[in-house]
Amino acid sequence: MILFLGILSGSSVLPGQQATDKQDSTGKVQMSFSDVEQEPDKEDPVATQFNGEAAFEILEAICEIGPRVSGTPGMKKQQKFIKDHFQSLGAEVGEQVFTVRHPERGTQVPMTNLIARFHPERRKRLLFCCHYDTRPFADRDPVNPNGIFLGANDGASGVGLLCELARHVKEMPGKYGIDFVFFDGEEFVYVYRRDPMFLGSTYFSRQYAAGRYPGKVNYAILVDMIGDKELEIYYEGNSLQMASRLTRSIWSVANELGVKEFTAKERHKIRDDHLPLNSIARIPTCDIIDFDYPRVGTENMYWHTQQDIPENCSAKSLDKVGRVLLEWLRQMQKIR
Ligand SMILES: [Zn+2]
Repeated sequence: MILFLGILSGSSVLPGQQATDKQDSTGKVQMSFSDVEQEPDKEDPVATQFNGEAAFEILEAICEIGPRVSGTPGMKKQQKFIKDHFQSLGAEVGEQVFTVRHPERGTQVPMTNLIARFHPERRKRLLFCCHYDTRPFADRDPVNPNGIFLGANDGASGVGLLCELARHVKEMPGKYGIDFVFFDGEEFVYVYRRDPMFLGSTYFSRQYAAGRYPGKVNYAILVDMIGDKELEIYYEGNSLQMASRLTRSIWSVANELGVKEFTAKERHKIRDDHLPLNSIARIPTCDIIDFDYPRVGTENMYWHTQQDIPENCSAKSLDKVGRVLLEWLRQMQKIR
């Protein structure tokens, strides 16, 4: 019930919506995006472009650390990198710490969700998230399935993109506070189908559902595997089912910007960190994921292999996704 009211009284208008959708539950007509856009953009002092090159440099820096498996020194180094980055941008940085049993060794492994908040005083929030842990091994590698897995696309691409997106939010006017959340334990998997996934996002969602998270998150966007050099992003089936309006609004912004790599058709249905956010936290959450790595028809041959390296990712791809998210965010912040 609370959630129902929250949705009606919260952001009933999303970027890219049609005029027929503009009345909220109180009967007030909301200003459409196109009304807003015709006004000169004099408020936003940082109306600058997303910098895909800078995002890619962060992807490379993260990969230089080496593997970032949960509970390892590589993960610790990455945590310091992300914390320093967000603190330098003026965010409030916090952690959710918990432990899980190691699926092979039986020891306790520390897990940390990193949370960086801008404008913490604002109750209404938008959340951007990704997983930042990497697979323990390159287990789908045809040559060396026990080899080192770097996770340039499946891990570092989300980190690079969100770190760069965060440069734009502190000075951006609007009613929403913005949270960036880095989930641990998305793929702490030693045996496929035996070991549970989404440990960090599940923990986060339970904390949120129990009221142990400040503010109300109106929408969340998850990014995963968005650095692929041959970018092709389709609607993800679970997002379309569980967060339909949000999902369509993002593709609609991509269409406005002419970013052709976003195709408004469903292709895969993927289990990812957005499932607990939608089902446990009840936050409408969309997963933006390019699950054909390198491209449609290649049987996802780089995924979870030793080919998931920076050379198979590109600054242009991060730039395209980053531009869409930055524009979506700017439109959200302008809707009254
Ligand atoms: Zn993965």
